[in-house]
Amino acid sequence: MEKRDMIYEGKAKKVYTTDNPELYIVSYKDDATAFNGLKKGAIAGKGAINNQMSNLLMRMLSEHGVPTHFVEELSERDTVVKKVSIVPLEVIVRNISAGSFAKRYGVEEGIVFDEPTIEFSYKNDELGDPLINDYHALALKLATREEIETIKAMAFKVDALLKEYFKSIGVDLVDFKLEFGRLADGTIILADEISPDTCRFWDSKTHEKLDKDRFRRDLGGVEEAYQEMMKRVRGK
Ligand code: ADP
Ligand code: UDP
Repeated sequence: MEKRDMIYEGKAKKVYTTDNPELYIVSYKDDATAFNGLKKGAIAGKGAINNQMSNLLMRMLSEHGVPTHFVEELSERDTVVKKVSIVPLEVIVRNISAGSFAKRYGVEEGIVFDEPTIEFSYKNDELGDPLINDYHALALKLATREEIETIKAMAFKVDALLKEYFKSIGVDLVDFKLEFGRLADGTIILADEISPDTCRFWDSKTHEKLDKDRFRRDLGGVEEAYQEMMKRVRGK
């Protein structure tokens, strides 16, 4: 399978058409951004790590009954995926307080919740991805009530599976962002990526951060954290 035309270049990936109208090729870049594009940089080797980690995790999820866009890994950075129309919601699941949750509610990071939480952001760069509730998403026709229920159930299932998976490699899954899309027949599947760019990972023992927060917060050891996560996922 080969790339044809680049139809989209995002902050972390490029998306290409292929000779199959139902498939895209995504190509992962080393570019890194934070704070809605305000902070820019590069993380050497990130594209290859995020591509391969995301594919491994999506494979695991689909073995457990979660439908995903993953089709075939073509190379270190390139993957064939099912083409979807993205539901413009960033679906955020949290197990432990951190990031914008801690800031918004004035609590410390690291509070372990009794139950996971879910929230949506409206995927719109111009507006800075504002927080949105179900009713507003319905009013804006971003998704139907049924789709929102499907997405919530799938997101919590992904959380349960990922939490257990990461626990077995000594990592606490703090929070993460998912994106879902619709196939031509309307079926909702998991799309985009699952990687240290889109998840918060803390070492279970030391609580060391092993994710993009090292870049966001200038903590140093960014490349090393991505490599350490990849090493643990590979060793599983
Ligand atoms: P951003 O758009 O936030 O800068 P990326 O650089 O990761 O993000 O770009 C990848 C784009 O491809 C995102 O907009 C994402 O929603 C979209 N996407 C991910 N998976 C699929 C898919 N299977 N089909 C169509 N679009 C997808
Ligand atoms: N996240 C993401 N993309 C975004 C916003 C958030 O992948 O545009 C992920 C982020 O990596 C974290 C989770 O979603 O794992 C929750 O992020 P939060 O709302 O705390 O926002 P942040 O602190 O990143 O601004």
